Amino acid sequence: NSENHNLHIFFLPFPGHGHLIPTTDMARLFAARGVRATIVTTPLNLPLVSKIIEKSKAPSNSNINIVAIKFPSVEAGLPEGCEHVDSIPSMSLIPNFFKATSMLQEPFEQFLQQHRPDCLIAGAFFHWATDSADKFGIPGILFHGTSSFSLCASECMRLYKPHKNVSSESEPFVIPNLPGEIKLTRMVLPEYVINDDDESELARGRRKIMESAGRSFGVIVNSFCGLEQIYADLYQKLVGKKTWHIGPVSLLNKDIEEKANRGKQASINEQDCLKWLDSKKPDSVLYVCFGSMANFTDSQLKEIAMGLEASGQNFIWVVRRTKKANQQEQEEDDKQEWLPEGFEKRMEEKGLIIRGWAPQVLILDNEATGGFVTHCGWNSTLEGVSAGVPMVTWPVSAEQFYNEKLVTQVLRIGVPVGAKKWVRVVGDSVQKEAIEKAVRRVMVGEEALEMRNRAKKLGSMAKEAMEEGGSSSLALDALIQELSSRSGQ
Ligand code: UDP
Repeated sequence: NSENHNLHIFFLPFPGHGHLIPTTDMARLFAARGVRATIVTTPLNLPLVSKIIEKSKAPSNSNINIVAIKFPSVEAGLPEGCEHVDSIPSMSLIPNFFKATSMLQEPFEQFLQQHRPDCLIAGAFFHWATDSADKFGIPGILFHGTSSFSLCASECMRLYKPHKNVSSESEPFVIPNLPGEIKLTRMVLPEYVINDDDESELARGRRKIMESAGRSFGVIVNSFCGLEQIYADLYQKLVGKKTWHIGPVSLLNKDIEEKANRGKQASINEQDCLKWLDSKKPDSVLYVCFGSMANFTDSQLKEIAMGLEASGQNFIWVVRRTKKANQQEQEEDDKQEWLPEGFEKRMEEKGLIIRGWAPQVLILDNEATGGFVTHCGWNSTLEGVSAGVPMVTWPVSAEQFYNEKLVTQVLRIGVPVGAKKWVRVVGDSVQKEAIEKAVRRVMVGEEALEMRNRAKKLGSMAKEAMEEGGSSSLALDALIQELSSRSGQ
C-alpha cells in the first residue's frame, strides 16, 4: 500500500444520508489502500461523517481528512441550517436545495485550486464537478449512488422516451433496449422525467447530470458485477466511459460499533436492539424501514400497523415522523393516534417500533432478520442483498421504482407491495391486506424459501466480491493503479 501514499483524492458527497454514508465508506476503502482522502462536506454534515470514521478503529482512518465549506442555505432561499436533502421542510423547496448545491461550485473550485488533489470523486448531483475537475487538469469521477440497472433504465428512458407513446398514465410500456422486458407506467415517473424537455430547474438539472457522466473520467458504482453483470456492461457502453463496480461498500463495516453507527444517532441502544433480536428465531423477524427521506401520512402508517399485525410475523418497524413545531402539537402527536388502539400493548412480544433512526446494517445482518420491507433506496436495497434477505418492495420516489424491478423481476428476491405511483408523501395508497399478503409471501412458505435461498446466495457473492481477489476489490485496485500511474506516482 505504501506506493499509494502520495495519491490524494477529494471526495465530494451530495449532502443527504443516502450519499454521505456510502461516500464515507468509499473513502475508507481508498484510505485502507494507502490513499490520502479528503472528504469535503458542509459544517452540519461534518459530525456525521466524522462519527462514522471514529467508530471504526481502522488505523488507516488517519489517512482521511474532513473539511467543511459553508453551505449557502439562506442565500438559496432555504431555512438556516438546512444542509441535507432529508431535512428540507417542504418538498417545494427541493429546487432551492439544488440551487444551493450549484452555488457551492465557486468556493469548492477555490479549494480545489489550493490543494490540487490527484482526483475528484463527486456525487453525480453536482453536475458541475466534472467541469471543475477539468479546469484544474484533474480526473473527475462521478458517483451516482444507485444500481447499474437503474442507471441503464434512466439512460434508456432519456434516449427512447417510451412514455411519450402511451395514451394514458396507467398504460404500461416496455423500456426499450433494457434487457429483461421491464414494464413501467407513466405513474411511477416524476414530473421532471415525464417532461424532460421542459425548462424547470429539476428537468434541466437532470439533463446536466446525465450529460456530465459523458465528459467524466469515469463512473464509480456501489454494486458488484455478479449482481447485475449485463447491466454493468450495458451502462459502460451507454455512458462510453470506464465504470468501476467497487461495492457493496457497507460490507466494510465488520464489528457492532461500525454497523450500528451510520448516519444519525440511533434512537435505540444497540445492545437493547441486539438483545431483542437474539431472543427471536433465525429468519423470523421482518425489518421495516423506508430510508432517510420517505414520508407517510398517519392513516397510511395505521394501515402498515394493521398489515403487520395481521401477518402474524415478528417485526422491527422504523417510524420516521417529522417533529412537530410546538410542544402542544408534539404532545398530541405522542398520544400515538396514528397507531391502532392498543397496538403496542398487543405487539409487546412480537414487534419493536423504533421512532427515528435505526442501526439498519446491524439489524439486517443479524441472523434473526429474515425479511425487509424497503422503499428500494439503493443503499438499503444493497444492504438487504448483502445481508441475504428477501424483500417486500415499496418504492416511493427517486429511482426506487427501477430498483424494485431489479429486486422482484431480475433477481427474483422480492415481491412488490403494489405501490403504483411516484409520490412526495405516501398516503393511503397501499391497503393493509396487500401489506399482509406481501409480508407472508416473503416470510413463509415455499416461495419464501426459494427467494431466501437466492438472496443468501447473492449475499455470499457480495461478500466474495469485496474480499481480496474479489471483483470489487480488484476493480478498486485497478482504479487506484490507474490514478497512480496517471499522476506519476
Ligand atoms: N439508514 C439507517 N437507519 C435508518 C434509516 C436509514 O441507518 O433508520 C441508512 C441506511 O442503512 C442506508 C441509508 O441510511 O445506508 C439510506 O439510504 P437509501 O439509499 O436506502 O435511501 P434514502 O434515504 O437515500 O432514500
